Amino acid sequence: MEVIKFAAEKIANANLLIMTAGAGIGVDSGLPDFRGEKGFWNAYPMYERLGLSFYDCANPIHFETDPHFGWGFYGHRLELYRKTTPHDGFNIMLNWGKNIAEDYFVVTSNVDGQFQKAGFDPFKIYEIHGSIHHLQCLAPCCDAIWENNENIQIDYETMRAKNIPKCRFCDRVARPNILMFGDYSWLPQRSHEQSDRFDNVIQNASGKNIVVVEVGAGTAVPSIRYTSERLGRRDNTTVIRINLRESQIAGNHISIPMRGLEALKMIDEELNG
Ligand SMILES: [Zn+2]
Repeated sequence: MEVIKFAAEKIANANLLIMTAGAGIGVDSGLPDFRGEKGFWNAYPMYERLGLSFYDCANPIHFETDPHFGWGFYGHRLELYRKTTPHDGFNIMLNWGKNIAEDYFVVTSNVDGQFQKAGFDPFKIYEIHGSIHHLQCLAPCCDAIWENNENIQIDYETMRAKNIPKCRFCDRVARPNILMFGDYSWLPQRSHEQSDRFDNVIQNASGKNIVVVEVGAGTAVPSIRYTSERLGRRDNTTVIRINLRESQIAGNHISIPMRGLEALKMIDEELNG
């Protein structure tokens, strides 16, 4: 395929590799992408019975009104992400970033920590919506963000958590350090520090060949696509957009209408061929 060959040529000449990722990247690892209401309810039949959408569930209000319900949803996701193994596409991209390019950086809207789990340097990852593997106070009583080492027990009949993480400082409810819908108490400092590191890498990359590999970023919450497109307006920058459904991209960039793992494997074979 011509686009695969073209993508491989660009990656072979990249000085800096930027990987941008949305929910679609996790599908090949077996993670649900909550695509549409049906997608969410297929993953969580209990919420269909309760008539609750992803938008309804991913809302900080539950932690205030009924934290056992709020943690039912996030506790289940925490468990799911902990036991998921990132697919081979992550290893392929990490290898490109370390052994072909001089440097790499990841920008992801996923809160699942799969890039860290795949061995990417935590200091080269920008999680724009935060991380489920970190906690903060619900109030919040202070700016502290700490690692989430909790084991949340869940009653799957009711999707309610049996135990609730507590704030280390005031003993009130702790919540995931994730930007939810209609969220005014999310503490952004951790993400801001990651964002600063990313900006530094980009500022120091003038004159270099940048390749952006975007995987599974949909149009529903388009922040990741905007990030790729903004980078794509720089000189010497090529965006490779890999997406089964919405792969179109304007300008002199590369559109690959395939699933992430399949496309990454084909590009890698071309690079090694
Ligand atoms: Zn507190």
